[in-house]
Amino acid sequence: MEHDHLLAPKIHAGNIGQTMPHKPNALLKKIARLIELNGPISLGDFMHIAMADPQLGYYKKRTSIGRTGDFITAPEISQMFGEFIAVWCISLWHQMGQPDPFCLAELGPGKGTLMKDLLRAARSDPAFSAAVKVVLVETSDRLQQAQRENLPPEWLQNEKTIWHTDIASLPEMPAIIIANEFLDVVPFRQYVKSSGKWHEIGISLAAENRLQKVALANTLDETLLPPNAASEPDGAIFEHAPAREAIIENLSTHLIRHQGAALFIDYGHLQSGFGDTFQAMAAHDYADPLEAPGEVDLTSHVDFDALANVARHAGIAAVQTQTQGEFLLELGLLQRAGALGAGKQVEIQDRIRSEVERLAGPDQMGTLFKVMAISTLKSGLPGFPETGN
Ligand code: SAH
Repeated sequence: MEHDHLLAPKIHAGNIGQTMPHKPNALLKKIARLIELNGPISLGDFMHIAMADPQLGYYKKRTSIGRTGDFITAPEISQMFGEFIAVWCISLWHQMGQPDPFCLAELGPGKGTLMKDLLRAARSDPAFSAAVKVVLVETSDRLQQAQRENLPPEWLQNEKTIWHTDIASLPEMPAIIIANEFLDVVPFRQYVKSSGKWHEIGISLAAENRLQKVALANTLDETLLPPNAASEPDGAIFEHAPAREAIIENLSTHLIRHQGAALFIDYGHLQSGFGDTFQAMAAHDYADPLEAPGEVDLTSHVDFDALANVARHAGIAAVQTQTQGEFLLELGLLQRAGALGAGKQVEIQDRIRSEVERLAGPDQMGTLFKVMAISTLKSGLPGFPETGN
């Protein structure tokens, strides 16, 4: 989602334990009861319950993407975004030797806008459109429904599009996988440095059913830390996301078995580091992550450095990362915007110009958002410089 600063303020040991709400909502009470019975829960478990609780979680109750919702994403800003992902997928499919059939999977497709724009743009390559089997991996029933309504009717016939709820069940065939703002919603863990050790941060109960962050007794395996961890002061935060790493490992294994590629776009960093990036958004504004679980979108920045290493260790041949701005410019964003605007009214040209600025501008999504591409082919990845893997 788009927002205007890179990292949330650092939390130090001194202010872990700040408290929040006056009137706890039903999910907060449920979490409080769990903590009462069982002790503090990890931040990752808190995030999972807040987002995915079957009755009261954010996905069940709320998830609202777009101008009138809680946050806006690149495909909702401009149709050009989906068109460039189409260019990327078609180019990869040709490099793969035009497998027919092949699976085009999107993880966490939201309202289905990216896939709709992608499939429309892919009409330029009828063989691609004929060979593709679309798999939308989505846990939310409400969003599955929104995706169904958004896709053109011809894509809903003859099982051209199917829905899965789990990435582990992709069809056994060559695959191209895309995911925009998916990894950031997958739960992660935080650790705080205290007397030289990295303690996991948990969520415990403060007075009056309020939740607070606490440092737990369990510590991090220090081999997981970036090299400069020793010079970080007490109070520094390190974020580790084993669930995100497991997804990349799973998909890498699947791609190696069947051939293919994947593209992940999200806000995050290209080099592992330290800092608290846990954030909550509601109505396009930052909110308190602990105050009203189920009513706010919870995310953290994606550590692409760590994920790229997982893909490399899994044996993926080509792994590249860079900023969204560079990626879109490399694929021809300016030329496409020029062609779209040519001969149009000034207002339309202005709109296109502002979309380009939002997607690729360095002070907007251009540098905050990063792109990671992985491929089982040794050939170059479109949108990335020739060298540097
Ligand atoms: N890609 C969309 C939406 C991003 S929001 C866009 O760019 O607009 C995150 C999406 O991931 C939502 O569709 C959410 O329901 C879905 N999601 C969250 N956890 C998931 C999981 N474990 N498996 C599949 N989808 C998930």
